[in-house]
Amino acid sequence: MARVGNSIIKGIEIGEIITTLNKAYADEWLAYYQYFIEGKVIKGLMKDAAIAELNQHAADELRHATMVADRILQLGGTPLLHPNDWLKYTNCGYDAPNDFDVVAILNDAIKGEQCAISTYSKIVEMTKNKDIVTYNMVSQILADEVEHEEDLQALHDDITEFLESLKKSAR
Ligand code: FE
Ligand code: FE
Ligand code: MG
Repeated sequence: MARVGNSIIKGIEIGEIITTLNKAYADEWLAYYQYFIEGKVIKGLMKDAAIAELNQHAADELRHATMVADRILQLGGTPLLHPNDWLKYTNCGYDAPNDFDVVAILNDAIKGEQCAISTYSKIVEMTKNKDIVTYNMVSQILADEVEHEEDLQALHDDITEFLESLKKSAR
């Protein structure tokens, strides 16, 4: 545990930060797995572009899990030790893919990112001017989640527009 490093935290209980970060940690593992399995089961037109994006996002979520775990340890906490706890403590839950079509998968993934953005923006607010190190970390993660939403939405729009133009030319 970083003793002097943690003494600079003011106006917020370290235990509260640890609890909040563990919930985000659960979200990151579930997001990682959701992207991983979506990239495996996805079907349909232009799926290769989607697979590339899903795999890139899976890698980002795993990197976020690492960042959050390391910060929990610095604060003197213990990251969740059992996968059962991921579902117990998650903010955003887990959306198992049930429709494997590209557009449906992208819609699920966009919904997940929107939840991640709202979760991290709350942690940014909570740590602002109180815990600068956590604040910087969650700000970086938040920027990644905003980029994720944008990438998925752009891909979703390209694919749906392409499908529309196919329908028109078939008429
Ligand atoms: Fe993430
Ligand atoms: Fe994300
Ligand atoms: Mg991306």
